[in-house]
Amino acid sequence: MSEVNSAGVLADWLREEHGVKLPRRADSFGNFNCECPKCQHTRKKHKRDRPLRVKLSQDGCLWFCHHCSWKGGYGGGRRVDRK
Ligand SMILES: [Zn+2]
Repeated sequence: MSEVNSAGVLADWLREEHGVKLPRRADSFGNFNCECPKCQHTRKKHKRDRPLRVKLSQDGCLWFCHHCSWKGGYGGGRRVDRK
């Protein structure tokens, strides 16, 4: 991904790169809650929880999972992914 200029590009990148199931309406900037690709399959309770908070903005994207603490982002032309 080179230049960040639309929420749709960010959303598609997140879907392809990380398997994040962003809702279809995530084609505009904003905050979205969705399933976490890292920990959703480990959930026995609260299977319908949407622990992953994703923020799409003109500066890039940031995400944080309230359940497994997976977080990362993309902005300013570089990845800020952390594991
Ligand atoms: Zn998680």
